[in-house]
Amino acid sequence: MHSSCSDGALAPSDVMARAAYHGATVVALTDHDQLAGLDEARAAAQALGMRFVNGVEISVTWRAITLHIVGLNFDTQSPELVNGLQVMAQGRAQRAQKIADQLAQAGVEGMFEAALVHAGGRVDLLSRTHFARELVARKKATSVRSVFQDYLVAGKPGYVSHEWCSLAQAVGWITGAGGVAVFAHPGRCIHAHEGDELELLHEFVALGGRAIEVVTGSHSKNQYKKYTQIAQDFGLFASRGSDFHSSNESKMEAGKVPELPHGLIGVESLFG
Ligand code: AMP
Ligand code: MN
Repeated sequence: MHSSCSDGALAPSDVMARAAYHGATVVALTDHDQLAGLDEARAAAQALGMRFVNGVEISVTWRAITLHIVGLNFDTQSPELVNGLQVMAQGRAQRAQKIADQLAQAGVEGMFEAALVHAGGRVDLLSRTHFARELVARKKATSVRSVFQDYLVAGKPGYVSHEWCSLAQAVGWITGAGGVAVFAHPGRCIHAHEGDELELLHEFVALGGRAIEVVTGSHSKNQYKKYTQIAQDFGLFASRGSDFHSSNESKMEAGKVPELPHGLIGVESLFG
């Protein structure tokens, strides 16, 4: 789940309240490249009687593909992790300026300042989602999801290719901080050949990755089956996530996620 400490619309404590309302018992806040919401989320989750797991979703560039690696149950004070994420945040700020410049060239002016308002003034967490919300507000698109068909993606205005950290860095920072690295929504990252996906999975496991997200709003039923088989073939623990950003932008509600398919072992079983 995401909070306003990255590109979610709600404060960390409000996200936890929604998850508790929907009956969640074990939860993680997984803001993009940010740890700032964890203390507030942990306090709220525990007050609501839920088990809270530290989380983060790290953006990775692998062979020109962007993918997301979730870290769970790590030490939030780990210097390598904290410093690595700080560099990522600087990259976000620079990318946002380039996105705004591109949009201005396409005739959509003043987007840096406008997106920044959606990000609560925090230049270091500026996401495409903040640009998307402003494009919806300006009636350039009817929904955040439809923005990603006409803007901010390859070949469309506002697209900037960006170098995030490497897979080895993301997995290394997480495992070095005592956490578990999870390959997030794999079905959304790979548009290339199946062979690439298998190589990526082998590389992830060789680097110390231990889990894969099987159930998520961005997977189809067929993908549930596919990644169940992959989890079993690669000996990976399984996770399920709503990828909640806000109630009108996300396919799943916070804390309201289907059960894992039979035959999988939930990643939370690693946390004692
Ligand atoms: P960023 O990390 O700034 O590039 O933004 C990535 C975020 O944009 C994702 O986590 C999603 O929340 C959102 N996003 C990307 N693609 C889509 C899409 N096709 N539909 C809706 N949201 C998207
Ligand atoms: Mn993601």
